[in-house]
Amino acid sequence: MSVLKYAPEALKNLFRAPVTTSYPAKPFEYKERTRGRIDISIDDCIGCGLCTRACPSSALSVDKNAGTWTINRFDCIACGYCVEKCPKKCLTMEQNYQEPGGEKQSVTYQKSPEVMAEEARKREEAAAKAAAAKAAMEAKKAAEAAAAGGEEK
Ligand code: SF4
Ligand code: SF4
Repeated sequence: MSVLKYAPEALKNLFRAPVTTSYPAKPFEYKERTRGRIDISIDDCIGCGLCTRACPSSALSVDKNAGTWTINRFDCIACGYCVEKCPKKCLTMEQNYQEPGGEKQSVTYQKSPEVMAEEARKREEAAAKAAAAKAAMEAKKAAEAAAAGGEEK
């Protein structure tokens, strides 16, 4: 009697596709909103540090002068706040997971030498412009003071 009770279901399953997948032969398909691991396009990072301030688990650190961005993946809780806060949109939530490991290691990303050199050139250019503007302002003030002194005589 009990065999007959399950027979219709068993017959239906003979013609259905399996609900399991043959992982790892067939790659797993992650859902669109999967929270996997954080990745960075480091050459687009401006070192503002907004991601480090947004991170609730202090998993991030940034060194603007050295051009580095560091994440401790074992501290990251994949909340995605850093991705939301980044003004340059250089952080992404990837749909894959951190591989298991025995030690809590940080990963540091370093900007390319070309981008570092370009940023240094821009900083020097801006500093030179600021110095020139300051010198021009001081020269103008000196000229005005000299003119005012001449009028008094
Ligand atoms: S996803 Fe959340 S926990 Fe992970 S680094 Fe970003 S802000 Fe920190
Ligand atoms: S918020 Fe974005 S641009 Fe700013 S330091 Fe973090 S990764 Fe870099």
